[in-house]
Amino acid sequence: MSDPIIRVENLHKRFGDLEVLKRINLEVDRGDVVCIIGASGSGKSTFLRCVNFLEEPSQGKIYIEGQLMGFKELPGGELVKDSQTNINRMRAEIGMVFQLFNLWPHKTVLGNVIEAPMVVRKQSRDEAVAIGEELLDKVGILEKKDEFPSRLSGGQQQRVAIARALAMNPQIMMFDEATSALDPELVGEVLEVMRQLASEGMTMLVVTHEMGFAREVSDRVIFLHNGQVEEDTTPEAIFSAPKSDRTRQFLRKVL
Ligand code: ADP
Ligand code: MG
Repeated sequence: MSDPIIRVENLHKRFGDLEVLKRINLEVDRGDVVCIIGASGSGKSTFLRCVNFLEEPSQGKIYIEGQLMGFKELPGGELVKDSQTNINRMRAEIGMVFQLFNLWPHKTVLGNVIEAPMVVRKQSRDEAVAIGEELLDKVGILEKKDEFPSRLSGGQQQRVAIARALAMNPQIMMFDEATSALDPELVGEVLEVMRQLASEGMTMLVVTHEMGFAREVSDRVIFLHNGQVEEDTTPEAIFSAPKSDRTRQFLRKVL
């Protein structure tokens, strides 16, 4: 048995008096696809942002590949904030794709993909271009490599954003409503890329309202309600026989 690639222990996140995440415990095994569902405001984005330390947990611990994220544990058990270098190093193992694609508008498609590998991974331009072109081909958009993002459809931009995240060769990919801003006819092409990644064994945390994707692709579905894990089970179980009334009510609204 190998360690889980992500382990979340007793995670709490507060913004002032507002407790957005409460006592979250979960483990994700390497290669698993975990979909996170829940109403708007239930804490899904905050949870992903805690995992890569874009938000600092108020309490609790997150381990990525067995390493504590964001903090150093002193011999007495006290936690102190880790160095930015270490935080960045761990963060580089986690690719993130957002609802709004956040591509750099003044860089070409290829320019968007090669930037971080050159700056952060210290790849040569030739190496970054070779890998970048391979990834653009993989997401089906190599022929647009010299275009600027504004010339692309939303679905194409999102596929570029996925290629850009993959260019860092992350161990984990997180998607935060990656298809929510897309016109309906463009959703499928992005889900198809995500489906392919899943089938290749990528570990994925996917916040989504696409229940079809959750049902077909995920190994597990987590239902967040008011910042708590209300249900954490297989897609079969949650969609055919949810244990909790709250889950049932939520699914009735979205299915
Ligand atoms: P979801 O992604 O499930 O819609 P979020 O994680 O975005 O939920 O937000 C959960 C709650 O936390 C919401 O009530 C939101 O207003 C609040 N929240 C999120 N980020 C902040 C912040 N930086 N400061 C204060 N409140 C926040
Ligand atoms: Mg959100």
